[in-house]
Amino acid sequence: MGNQPQTTASRNRRIILFPFPFQGHINPMLQLASLLYYRGFSITILHTNFNAPKISNYPHFTFISILDNHPEDERFSKSLLLDFAPDFIFKQDGADALRDELELLLASGKDEPVSCLITDAFWHFTQSVADSLNLPRLVLRTSSLYSTIIYSSIPLLDDCGYFTLDDNHLEEQVVKFPLLKVKDILKIGIRSNKDPYAELIGDMVKQTKASSGIIWNSFKELEETELERVQHDFPILNFLIPLPKYLTTSSSSLLDQDRTFFPWLDQQPPNSVLYVSFGSISKVDEKEFVEIAHGLVHSKQAFLWVVRPGFVKGSTSLELLPNGFPGESGRVVEWAPQQEVLAHEVTGAFWTHSGWNSTLESVCEGVAMICSPFRGDQPLDARYMSGLLRVGVYIENGFQREEISNAIRRVMVDEEGKEIRERARVLKQKGDVSLMKGGSSNESMESLVDYISSL
Ligand code: UDP
Repeated sequence: MGNQPQTTASRNRRIILFPFPFQGHINPMLQLASLLYYRGFSITILHTNFNAPKISNYPHFTFISILDNHPEDERFSKSLLLDFAPDFIFKQDGADALRDELELLLASGKDEPVSCLITDAFWHFTQSVADSLNLPRLVLRTSSLYSTIIYSSIPLLDDCGYFTLDDNHLEEQVVKFPLLKVKDILKIGIRSNKDPYAELIGDMVKQTKASSGIIWNSFKELEETELERVQHDFPILNFLIPLPKYLTTSSSSLLDQDRTFFPWLDQQPPNSVLYVSFGSISKVDEKEFVEIAHGLVHSKQAFLWVVRPGFVKGSTSLELLPNGFPGESGRVVEWAPQQEVLAHEVTGAFWTHSGWNSTLESVCEGVAMICSPFRGDQPLDARYMSGLLRVGVYIENGFQREEISNAIRRVMVDEEGKEIRERARVLKQKGDVSLMKGGSSNESMESLVDYISSL
């Protein structure tokens, strides 16, 4: 990339960034932090001890651990973050702890003046803290514009009764959002507007609207039809910056990336390998795991499959896998440098859980997708990619070997797949153009830097 770091001496403004502590949120926040560092800002990262970033990979940043660093309080035990988060982090205690930290930081005077706080949208309570300190807060939204529009419409969908429909309605279209089926809406994971998760989403939307601006990990040409709606629903500054186009996520990876498969990958013919990964959180049961393996074998395509530790609920029962699995035409690894694999010329398609980072990384490299969403925003983005942009196919019925191998062959072998791959290539090109001088992402990046400099 073209932006070279400036020397520390010329930095005169500091930005404080606060990622939500999961891989899919840490990656884009640290990509954004690096971009802003390259544009001349000093960087402080606030983080929890739970899923702490690899600090040694960022010697030029300052790191401060907050919220879960009190050794005498049992609530702060590592594995409990999500258990105590609703009671603590998202309530007044979390706000008070953050305010104390920020007050110290702002009063210390040993660093440059702080321009703003940039937090993950989930950290909604940070808005009141920022307001009380007269510190502008920007939000990094790590999901798509499209899924955020659906999330902000949860009260409306609840009023229409969608969350209480029974199984007979699963395949019906959602009238307000015709791209979606009822089952997609149900997979968001809430059953009413009063659910704690719905409340969290409601607070997130409200406090995002109250912020000084939203940074979206996306680009205009990718979600053009959604941008107008977002500008209407979130009438604040909106910056669309496709972070994977600028930087990889290798430094912010929480797991070690295996690179031993590259000699094998390098020997495969162009567009011949299916890359398979379902992100950092999703889990399958043993039966689904076995169906995935059989589907891969039946497709007769070469594959690289990421099986993360903990991916299979219970145990990873290798003895249940087909004889001789994975064989010479496949490789199984625990964690991969995903963007590098997607950028490799031998990668013909990505079988993904449709997490937004994975989706965007695939779009940025022009790789066609096979979408197997699990929950949350994933089914929404899967529909957008397969139904609207048609750069992928959607596996409708969970993990069943025949449907899997059919989907793989549709994308990797059939004529239909050629068209899907061509559309993916054109979309990547649009992303590339958006980065050039005068392009939409380039202008967004410039206006973000100008805006932060003006604060
Ligand atoms: N990832 C990776 N190596 C892997 C699998 C995933 O580096 O083997 C990265 C991937 O590039 C992406 C992130 O993990 O940046 C996953 O985020 P996503 O939003 O796709 O899904 P989540 O993990 O949040 O469900």
